[in-house]
Amino acid sequence: MSGIVLRNIRKSFGPTTALHDVSLSIVNGEFLTLLGPSGCGKSTLLRILAGLEVQDAGSVAIGDRVVDGLRPKRRDVAMVFQSYALYPHMTVAENIALPLRMRRLNAWQRAPLVGRWLPGTGMARRAIDMEVGGTAEALGIAHLLDRKPGQLSGGQRQRVALGRAMVRHPAVFLMDEPLSNLDAKLRVHMRAEIKELHRRLGVTFVYVTHDQAEAMTLSDRVVVMLDGEVLQVAQPQKIYSDPDDRRVAEFVGSPKINMFDAIMRERGQVDVAGTALSVPSELTLGTELTVAIRPEAFQLAGHAGPGVLTGLVRMVEHMGSDLFVYLDVAGVEHPVIARLSAERAPEIVTGQTLHVGVRPDHVLLFDREGR
Ligand code: ATP
Repeated sequence: MSGIVLRNIRKSFGPTTALHDVSLSIVNGEFLTLLGPSGCGKSTLLRILAGLEVQDAGSVAIGDRVVDGLRPKRRDVAMVFQSYALYPHMTVAENIALPLRMRRLNAWQRAPLVGRWLPGTGMARRAIDMEVGGTAEALGIAHLLDRKPGQLSGGQRQRVALGRAMVRHPAVFLMDEPLSNLDAKLRVHMRAEIKELHRRLGVTFVYVTHDQAEAMTLSDRVVVMLDGEVLQVAQPQKIYSDPDDRRVAEFVGSPKINMFDAIMRERGQVDVAGTALSVPSELTLGTELTVAIRPEAFQLAGHAGPGVLTGLVRMVEHMGSDLFVYLDVAGVEHPVIARLSAERAPEIVTGQTLHVGVRPDHVLLFDREGR
C-alpha cells in the first residue's frame, strides 16, 4: 500500500482558520507526529484524516484511494483518543470487542438485502473472543477482561483503548494525545509501549502531541505546526539541530533556545552582545541576523574573550545532572540560559560573574525574517 497524501487542506470554524493550506505526504509504515502548541490545528488535521471532520478544501488519499466523503469506518483507520472513549457499562472484553461486533452486526443487517451472508465481513463469536484474548494478552491486560473501565487505572484504560484499535487491524493508527491523562512516569512507560507496538505491527502511525519529548522519542519524522501551518517536516534530530525556521527553533528544546540580534562583523564572525562569535557562514559584512544558541551549547570559560559571553548570575536551577544558569548579559534583553554539567560546574551562586564559551558548531543563524 502506498502512504497517505493530504493535499492543500483548508479548514475554518466560523472566523477561525484552523488549517490554512496544509499538504503532507506520509510514508507507508512510518511513525509521523504532528507537534505544535495548543490551537495550532493538529487535532483538526488528524480528525480530517480520520473522516471525523470535513475539510473546506483539499483532498485526502489513504493508500491508493481518495477517501474524501468516505465515513470513518470505511477508511481503514483506527483512532485512539486522549479521553480513551470507553463505554463505562461494558467490560474490558466488550469494549475491545466492540468494533468486531459492530462489523458482525453490520454484516447480518446487510445480509438479507443481498439474500445471503457476506463472507469476510463478520466474525464468528468464537473468533472474536480469540482475537480479544490475544490482543489483551499482547497488552498485558488479559487478567482485567471482566472489569469495567471505572475499575481500571489510567494506564490500563489506555491499553484497553489501544486494544480496541488493534483488533480492527487497521492500515493506519491515528492517536490524539493518547498519553496526556497519565502521570509523568506512566507516560514514559506507555511511550515505550507505543513505540514497541509500532515496531511490531509495522503499519502507519499518525500521532498528535504538544509534548516534544514524545515527538522526539517516538517519531520517524516530526511535523511542526503553528497557527494552522506546517513549518517543517523532518527527522527529530534535524528538527532540533537544523530547524528551517526560528519559530521551530523556539518551540523545540527545553529550556528554550537563546536568541540574539546580531550583525555580521567580518567573514565568519558575528557580533553578539559585544563579543565576536565564529560562525559557519559567508554572509556579507553588516548583514543583520538572529543568532540562536541552545542552552547546552555553552560551556564554562575561565575569562572573557572572543566567543565568550560574560554575565551576572541571576538564578541557578539544580536539575540533578545539570544546572540551568540564568545570566544577565549587558545589551541582551532576556536572561541568557546556559545548561551546564553539574559535575563540571563548580559551585555557582547568584550574583557572581560568569563566563560561558559558545561552541561554534552549535550556533544557528536566521535572517531577520526568521528563515
Ligand atoms: P490542542 O492541543 O489544544 O487540542 P490543536 O493544535 O489540536 O490544539 P485544534 O483542536 O485543531 O488545535 O484547533 C485549531 C483551531 O480551531 C483552534 O483555534 C480551535 O479553537 C479551533 N477549533 C477546533 N475545533 C473547533 C470547533 N469544532 N468549533 C470551533 N472552533 C474549533
